[in-house]
Amino acid sequence: MVKDIEKIVSLCKRRGFIFPGSEIYGGLANSWDYGPLGHLLKQNIKKEWWKFWVQERADMVPMDAAIIMNPKVWEASGHLQNFSDELVECKKCHHRFRSDHLLEAESLRPEYDKGNPKTISEVKCPDCDGALTDPKHFNLMFKTFLGTNEDSATTAYLRPETAAGMFVNFKNIQTATRRRLPFGIAQIGKCFRNEITPGNFIFRTREFEIGEFEYFINPKDWEQTFEMWLSEIKRWWQDIMQIDMDNLVWHEIEDGERAHYSKRTVDIEYKYPFGVKELHGIAYRTDFDLTRHQQVSGADLQYLDPETNEKFLPHVIEPTFGIDRMLLVSLLEAYSEEEAPTSEAGETEARVVMKFPKHLAPIQVAVLPLSKKEELSSVAKEVANDLRKYFSVDYDETQSIGKRYRRQDEVGTPYCVTFDFESLEDKKVTVRDRDTMAQDRVEISALKDYLQSKYA
Ligand SMILES: [Zn+2]
Repeated sequence: MVKDIEKIVSLCKRRGFIFPGSEIYGGLANSWDYGPLGHLLKQNIKKEWWKFWVQERADMVPMDAAIIMNPKVWEASGHLQNFSDELVECKKCHHRFRSDHLLEAESLRPEYDKGNPKTISEVKCPDCDGALTDPKHFNLMFKTFLGTNEDSATTAYLRPETAAGMFVNFKNIQTATRRRLPFGIAQIGKCFRNEITPGNFIFRTREFEIGEFEYFINPKDWEQTFEMWLSEIKRWWQDIMQIDMDNLVWHEIEDGERAHYSKRTVDIEYKYPFGVKELHGIAYRTDFDLTRHQQVSGADLQYLDPETNEKFLPHVIEPTFGIDRMLLVSLLEAYSEEEAPTSEAGETEARVVMKFPKHLAPIQVAVLPLSKKEELSSVAKEVANDLRKYFSVDYDETQSIGKRYRRQDEVGTPYCVTFDFESLEDKKVTVRDRDTMAQDRVEISALKDYLQSKYA
């Protein structure tokens, strides 16, 4: 794994994975735009996520809720009340505190001079002694207005999480799909949080994508269900994302540190170049959310067990994944620098290879004619166009073949197809493997099947 995040930031910009947002206008702090390759990588991660967590499971259904919801939703979820405190944030460790809590803690110190009370600007971070930002009355939700009047009656919010969309649709989905417990509702979507201090490339941004699901259960089953999801999460990282599992830290959140309604929470953390920080999490949220939505909406959200005739509010286990963080991790894991042999016997040169798992690579096949000459390029383009129906394909005919291989290695293309003058005679091409750099001579007519077998 790469130790220097700047190497990733620079590769991402140079090769079109991720650009600084609105760059020609001087940028917009901590906003990033996914370029062609970043978009493809993100699509692939989301595709695998849907397949693993939803398509392959009999107990999961997908949905896609609106980003702007009735503001009462945020009253029920607690976001309206709890996100509007006066906050300060540590400039060093980014922990965020309520100003009144910090001042109260200060006043309890034995050496505190009551005759000369401290102001918040004199207080340091209680966790790391870093300097604090100026206090701000802060609601993390982005506010907007519905219609033309900008007043409190028309105030609405961009969702700060996707979970609410699944809770408010619980009854509709359960009725429409006639699901019995246990079952889950899954969603991928954009969320918005007006973070005081975002940073570390795409680690913390003000708009981000989340993939998560709410798994509705009978509370008597919560412990074994939690364990089941934990082991599925391990399988996800090991088999699908194929990361070095030593880079994960399984952080069991202690009693007293969890949200008051949660009986168990595990943060899955990752050893980023900038420290061990959260990657995603799983929480047993009891019936907190459905209870709140039932109270505030007045709707009956109870579930009637058809076998026992018992009526109750289902409990929920919620695994949450940040799509952008998973993408960051896939970049960090893939990056490698190594010495590769050149065409000169015994010579080597440095190459940067993004060793993405094949199914995540943004470009699956690159077609490279040995020369730009019309007689080669016209046929090579035809081959590339045929492959485009099945694969994400790049066609490149500029500069030496060695340089083109390096360019494809640097974006993680698993297979390069080289078209040479001999190809015109024997109707065969050379297929080069990104990782082993081994080359196969393959019939053009069998090329599609050959490549598909590699991706099977
Ligand atoms: Zn701090």
